[in-house]
Amino acid sequence: MTTKFYIDAHVHFFSAGHIPLQQTIDRLLNKTFGSTGSKLTAAAGLSVAAPLIPLLPLLENTGAVEGRIERIKGFIEFFDTDAAFSINKAVTSSEGIYFISDYDNRIKLFTPLVMDFEYSVVDYNPNYVGQKLLKDQVKNLTQEANSLLIKEKLINNKWLVLPFLGLDLRRFDNADNIEHTLEQLIALNSSGLNVIELNDFEQPFEDLYQQYNGGCIGLKIYPSLGCDVWPEDEQRRAINIELIKTLAQKQYPVTVHCQKDSYESGNLDLSDETLINYANPKKWQNLLNAADNPKLFLNFAHFGGEEGVKRLVNWRSWRAGDRAQYKNKKLFEAFDRDTKSWTYRIIKLLKTQQNIYSDLAAFDFEDQKAVASFLWLLYLDEQGQLDDEFPNSQYKLKDKILFGTDVPMTMYQYPEYKAQVKAFYQCMKGNYSHKFMFVLPPSAWFNGNSNEYIENFINHNPAAFLFKR
Ligand SMILES: [Zn+2]
Repeated sequence: MTTKFYIDAHVHFFSAGHIPLQQTIDRLLNKTFGSTGSKLTAAAGLSVAAPLIPLLPLLENTGAVEGRIERIKGFIEFFDTDAAFSINKAVTSSEGIYFISDYDNRIKLFTPLVMDFEYSVVDYNPNYVGQKLLKDQVKNLTQEANSLLIKEKLINNKWLVLPFLGLDLRRFDNADNIEHTLEQLIALNSSGLNVIELNDFEQPFEDLYQQYNGGCIGLKIYPSLGCDVWPEDEQRRAINIELIKTLAQKQYPVTVHCQKDSYESGNLDLSDETLINYANPKKWQNLLNAADNPKLFLNFAHFGGEEGVKRLVNWRSWRAGDRAQYKNKKLFEAFDRDTKSWTYRIIKLLKTQQNIYSDLAAFDFEDQKAVASFLWLLYLDEQGQLDDEFPNSQYKLKDKILFGTDVPMTMYQYPEYKAQVKAFYQCMKGNYSHKFMFVLPPSAWFNGNSNEYIENFINHNPAAFLFKR
């Protein structure tokens, strides 16, 4: 028997009390009035301060007023309520996702990523709301996931909540006894990481719920909080090298934030650009090479972002040519080699290394250019063109992409959880009207491949990342 899953590999069940508001405001004020970083207007500053997201919709001027108010309310509600409430809302919304085949029978997983704000907050003070100890955040999420209010709903719908524990790389201060430090940090901040294997899912669902629900199964690294993946300092490099070797040996799944849109935190003397670059996939390439490419189970969250994806398709040549001629044909020189695109660097790692994956969290399916570019990349890879581009390619993108939503970060765009899943489904089906402005791969390709790709992204690939050992 093989278990069929529906896995949302990237969500956050934040509440207001998990977000370091004071730290965020300090950084914002420093950027606006201070001497470091780029000087921004207050509004622009707010828009990059992700944990102030509850305020962000208020600043936007698009959309109808009635719709906006509902969206804002739903959005703020997410942060203003406990995780059990948010989980319940998402699970309820996902009931009857009829367009995903056999949805009712699938085991469904949320893997909420907990961020290690505790380490990155300067002048950490537990008296502040939003400066909870990491272990208290994890404990809270575990309790909420097991709340009696949602127990029945989770069991009836076959949902499990399996968090990832955030760890700041700077918590490791010595290359000599990394394994010991790692296990200590895990034990201190969670009730241990459950290593679950695929055949463990063959037991009755209620037993799975009892045994695993709410328990951590992986680790989350968020470099823009101030921990450089490949720092200048030789000693810190040595620590990171030993750490990823140990993580590979332990076979823990690790998700790392990897797009230029990010939440920056920590040392106010560091510019946003510096902090963003801490997550650069090129740094990961260096780190992995230096560690002799251990078979680390690694997920690059966000696939480099929409901008990274768009830069790999040559829309200039499409626009320069006769667009009508290219409609639904694969004639234009679609692939655009842009080695500076983070997506380019991620694809290189995906195609050459065994256990490396990339999730689609927060991908803007309303961005037609991004959608078309993403689909072209999948198509070109299927056709073998990306194998030519990346020497030593051994894997296909279709076996490496994970579905994830990034809820609640996307809730303003998709107040209903189901709507975002639908947008992903529509993208994979190439199911767009004449209003779609960008040429898509040939429809025969969609007919032949859509179902397989969807199944891979929501089921096979994340199951392999999380459980195939
Ligand atoms: Zn996220």
